[in-house]
Amino acid sequence: MDCKKRLLVLDDERDIGEFVRDVAIESGFDALASDRPEAFPSIYTNDIDVVVLDLMMPGTDGIEIIRFLAEQRSKSFIILISGYNAGVLHSAQALASEHGLHVIGSLTKPIRYVELEQLLELVPALVPARTNADASLFETPGIDEFHAAIRNGEIVPHYQPQLDFTSQTLVGVEALVRWEHPHRGLLPAGLVLNLAHEADLLSEMTSSVLSQSLIQCSEWQAAGLKTLVSINMSADMFKDLELPKLLEEQLRAHRLEPAQIILEVTESALMQELVKSLDTLTRLRMKGIALSIDDFGTGYSSLVQLHRIPFSEMKIDRSFVLNALTDEEALAIVKITIMLGHELGMKVVAEGIENQQTWDLLARLGCDVAQGYFIAKPMPGDELLTWARSRSALH
Ligand code: C2E
Ligand code: MG
Ligand code: MG
Repeated sequence: MDCKKRLLVLDDERDIGEFVRDVAIESGFDALASDRPEAFPSIYTNDIDVVVLDLMMPGTDGIEIIRFLAEQRSKSFIILISGYNAGVLHSAQALASEHGLHVIGSLTKPIRYVELEQLLELVPALVPARTNADASLFETPGIDEFHAAIRNGEIVPHYQPQLDFTSQTLVGVEALVRWEHPHRGLLPAGLVLNLAHEADLLSEMTSSVLSQSLIQCSEWQAAGLKTLVSINMSADMFKDLELPKLLEEQLRAHRLEPAQIILEVTESALMQELVKSLDTLTRLRMKGIALSIDDFGTGYSSLVQLHRIPFSEMKIDRSFVLNALTDEEALAIVKITIMLGHELGMKVVAEGIENQQTWDLLARLGCDVAQGYFIAKPMPGDELLTWARSRSALH
């Protein structure tokens, strides 16, 4: 069996390392990120196919790591990154080549997704297929490890704030699943969802995220922060006729109002199971629980379906928001979605707001709620309190 290619990224800025790792995982690599240059010699092994290396790190520099790799007679393909201009990158690249290392490209910060993806696409053609499947830290975690992680409480939600465009105050948070892995660091939703799907545990995992979020929400409330929490549901869960009753009991147990949770379901997932779920969806709405249609614009819901299901919120898919400033079609979809949502009496949320210009654009178009890295990245529950307090102190 062919093993996956292995990638190790070293960058003292943890966000960037994790970004590179996540893109690599999406591109089919087993990937690991480290933000500690001093640990590099102990993590690096000669069977790593790609090393992504930040040139500028406190206490050391990428050149020292290049020297280390040369001493190891490394066969890894190297991608250099740096906040410097292209000139510095090119000299480092030349130096590495002189040492007999294989540099396949370089990236300047901020790293663009597409450029990184294109470099990673080169790798399979360069690296001969490996067939020894020895387990290591590099292998993507397997189902057994995932089962254990659930039992050990490592599968947890992080929370991303949502702001009202007009008042700029916190109105809610979206719970997004993460794996707080004891050795590999924080693992992304995509990887968790794949494993949950493979293990046939998607609904169980999502129920657990839901329960944890309700507990967290009531803890915030006790600490003086009243907020809504949005949960990403798997479409299957709406087939359960008991769901409205179970949720109502859970809410009561945590002293939360039904209006404090929003259940999100993606447009594409829901439409496949629509008829079976309509009963549950309607009863949830009657109990005062809000329903949100996620990733709107990527599925194929008809206007009739939208009207039939009692949604209270529509989330514009982030691919349109991310491109709205540069792509006329994306902008048109954003505009139409806002109009449609409002016509149908829904609140419209834009996710994927990464900068001030996109915020300004969406605000001008009359969008109601903003979510995105420009406001904050998803964070652990206890950090949200600090974040919210420092914000309200500023405003
Ligand atoms: P989603 O519901 O559309 O969630 C929004 C995604 O956009 C999140 O990705 C979030 O981290 C990301 N995001 C937020 N702001 C920005 C931004 O400014 N720029 C960019 N580029 N991205 C941004 P994440 O956490 O990787 O989650 C991916 C998807 O996984 C979610 O998409 C959701 O559909 C699903 N998911 C997450 N948690 C759960 C869960 O507990 N259960 C189920 N069934 N699905 C989940
Ligand atoms: Mg969502
Ligand atoms: Mg979405």
